[in-house]
Amino acid sequence: MSDIYSKYEPVIGLEVHAQLKTKSKAFCKCSTEFNAPPNTNVCPVCLGHPGTLPVLNKNLVEFILRLGTATNCSIRERSIFARKNYFYPDLPKGYQISQYDQPICEQGKVEIESKTIGITRIHMEEDAGKSIHDMSSDESLVDLNRCGVPLIEIVSEPDMRNSEEAYDYLTMLKQLVIYLDICDGNMEEGSLRCDANVSVRLKGADKFGTKCEVKNLNSFRNVADAIDHEIKRQIELIENGGEVIHQTMTYDAKAKATIPMRSKEEAHDYRYFPEPDLVTVYIDDEWKQKIKENQPELPGEKTKRFIEEYSLPRYDAGVLTQNRELAAYFESVVKATDKKSYKTASNWVMGEVMRALNDRKINISEFNITGENMASLINLIADGKISNNIAKEVYQEMLSKPAGEPAQAPEYIVKEKNLLQVTDSGEIESIIKKVLDESPKEVERYKAGEVKLLGLFVGKVMKESKGKANPKTVNELIIKNLGNN
Ligand code: ADP
Ligand code: ZN
Ligand code: MG
Repeated sequence: MSDIYSKYEPVIGLEVHAQLKTKSKAFCKCSTEFNAPPNTNVCPVCLGHPGTLPVLNKNLVEFILRLGTATNCSIRERSIFARKNYFYPDLPKGYQISQYDQPICEQGKVEIESKTIGITRIHMEEDAGKSIHDMSSDESLVDLNRCGVPLIEIVSEPDMRNSEEAYDYLTMLKQLVIYLDICDGNMEEGSLRCDANVSVRLKGADKFGTKCEVKNLNSFRNVADAIDHEIKRQIELIENGGEVIHQTMTYDAKAKATIPMRSKEEAHDYRYFPEPDLVTVYIDDEWKQKIKENQPELPGEKTKRFIEEYSLPRYDAGVLTQNRELAAYFESVVKATDKKSYKTASNWVMGEVMRALNDRKINISEFNITGENMASLINLIADGKISNNIAKEVYQEMLSKPAGEPAQAPEYIVKEKNLLQVTDSGEIESIIKKVLDESPKEVERYKAGEVKLLGLFVGKVMKESKGKANPKTVNELIIKNLGNN
């Protein structure tokens, strides 16, 4: 049986909405705070009362310029807003303020590991309210707190060819908005939302197929799964003689299927026209320049630098640069460790440190072990002063301080608990003597050729020394002892 799926090439473009971290809404002074009681963060402007006028929040422009600059977009000197008209109970004005034919950022790009993804445009708009259908059996409720909360929409080119690339692109966007401090990037809470446009075509065809847009994707996993299911659905449809129709789908994560929701609305359905209540946004060179100067090192650059400077595998570099604070912590560790310990430092931060952060549901800035203390611990291992096992014990002791209290220095703990590794062969030798004397039968078997018993002796000596003996020395000395007998 030939594989019908491999005959086709999927084409994917993403539309991502990011909710900006401004304190107040896009066009009024209401707070954008999350989880406020329903309908408390509202005013005549965002409720669309007659006679009120919107005033643009400058931070909304500042934030979109940061992302536009970081993605190499060309920035329009003069851009305007447009009204997107439609009726819905959660949209009291009857229109959303958005941008249409003159978006502020265009033609940018984002690098993912395998390729470059083009950015068609990034524009500013406002959010609508939220309808709640599941709190009461006979009523629908509406919460207008989100009306007017600033969003940016990032539209990609149809440059992705499988769900993995879409996942990587989304991951990079999330990292970017977090680095630029413009959005918290939390998909589960809705501050990052993604619609996936999917089509398929026969391999080698030069025209794209008809696309469907999948909405309702509220996690990274869902985005990838929904794309995979939609690709499969379209291929099977075509193979069975059907035709893909341009429509909006929703993803049912439980049923693991994409389901048609409505026929796709067209731009002219929204009767876009220039927003008459807002003035033209003018971006001068000085503003652009300032944004460039203040741009932090971006995640892609940082990852590359970590790979080169610290000789880390790409995987490690990706994990350690997931946010600026974690990357800074790692760098504070390596700054105080020996060059040869970079990978060890990475293992500790990715392993023990991140586990502790997860367990405690805190971020690295709240962690009670400083980078310097972490480095000292790693140096103690590298210098052969403590074994890996003892290091874990010392680390647990460092962790054990109550929240808010800084951990003790590892040198202090090692000294206090008398944990320094014993390399003095005289001392180790006497422990070995004792262990061998206590196990005459095993010694005989070893001498008769059962050399794997060496592990048993080493274990007993390590235990007797409470883990402090240097394992390498122990090994050597046992072999020497048994040979001499
Ligand atoms: P529409 O007019 O339907 O909104 P756009 O051209 O504005 O379509 O594109 C919306 C999104 O769909 C973009 O992210 C774009 O990359 C993507 N897209 C466009 N054409 C296709 C296609 N044939 N297959 C998959 N994605 C596509
Ligand atoms: Zn308001
Ligand atoms: Mg469009």
